[in-house]
Amino acid sequence: MGYPRVEVDLNKLEHNVKYIVNKCNSKGIKVAGVTKVFCGDPKIAKAYVDGGVSFLADSRIENLKKLKDFDIPKILLRLPMQSEAEDIVEYADVSLNSEMDTIKILSKKAVDAGKVHKIILMIDLGDLREGYFKEEEIYEAVEEILKLKGIKLEGIGTNLTCYGGIIPREDNVGKLIKVAEKIKSNYNIDLEIISGGNSSSLHLIFNDNMPEGINQLRLGESLVLGRETAFGDRIEDTFDDAFTIVVEAIELKEKPSIPIGEIGMDAFGNKPTFTDRGIRKRMICAIGKQDIDLENIVPVDDDLIILGGSSDHLILDVTNSKIDYSVGDKIRFKLDYGGILSSTTSEYVKRVYI
Ligand SMILES: *Cc1c(COP(=O)(O)O)cnc(C)c1O
Repeated sequence: MGYPRVEVDLNKLEHNVKYIVNKCNSKGIKVAGVTKVFCGDPKIAKAYVDGGVSFLADSRIENLKKLKDFDIPKILLRLPMQSEAEDIVEYADVSLNSEMDTIKILSKKAVDAGKVHKIILMIDLGDLREGYFKEEEIYEAVEEILKLKGIKLEGIGTNLTCYGGIIPREDNVGKLIKVAEKIKSNYNIDLEIISGGNSSSLHLIFNDNMPEGINQLRLGESLVLGRETAFGDRIEDTFDDAFTIVVEAIELKEKPSIPIGEIGMDAFGNKPTFTDRGIRKRMICAIGKQDIDLENIVPVDDDLIILGGSSDHLILDVTNSKIDYSVGDKIRFKLDYGGILSSTTSEYVKRVYI
């Protein structure tokens, strides 16, 4: 298998999942393991399932299709496209929704397929991405949903810290519980799922102030990177290097640190600036902006400096390293969330499982 390649340490990932799932389960919260950051790769998703998640969740139906052989409920995270309703009923047991017209189409497709499709109604608590914003509209929607065939109102949910960066707190997440109580008593129904958000809601569990009644979280970044995302803190006893990327060196030469000649635009239309560090030992590696944003990688050898790159090249300053590098060497980097996302999406980046 060639390079560049993402190496996925499935044992480290499963360890992260087990640790976080146990914490959540001990507070009465089930975990939906979010697979979108690695494009729903079933080999990686298996570490989620073995680690004890109760659901698999993804924003794209193409990814849920890849996960169809896992005998565990699947949730579609992004609001359904009406044009995909048939596939959604086929490959997702549950979807997050906020538009009545779409729910009606799902109802029709579910009836046609002889299935019951479950709905989690999304409520916007202020982050201003998806969900009902006006409280009365929620109850109107519930009333209509209860009349539909082929649809079950499974619960309600919210999403925070995605668009607006709003931090989940007892007061905003607590509002979800109040709405749930009202729905239950007004319509005399039970709600199976009260879904309290993503990895940014984990701090409420670790600090023991998650409002009573939240019984599900949808977690991606915290599982793959061992960090909560409201404050960006590392989660103790977890790994941040379950995913790494390994690239190959294709040139190694001493050169000045400032280009020679008149400086115009770089390959991306920006005017570059440079720091004069004198003559430096520079390495070119075979990966570029087509595969990954260079902001999203951190060299494991922390004496390396990322100078920049272009579509297909990454340029490093290796002068300060204690390692005597040669052309052909393999250089390893840690990835952040965006880095895992883009490198597992690029068709040029291979994937190995260790
Ligand atoms: C991506 C996503 C998640 C998971 O978010 P993380 O920050 O990776 O935990 C949860 N819910 C929805 C609706 C999402 O789109």
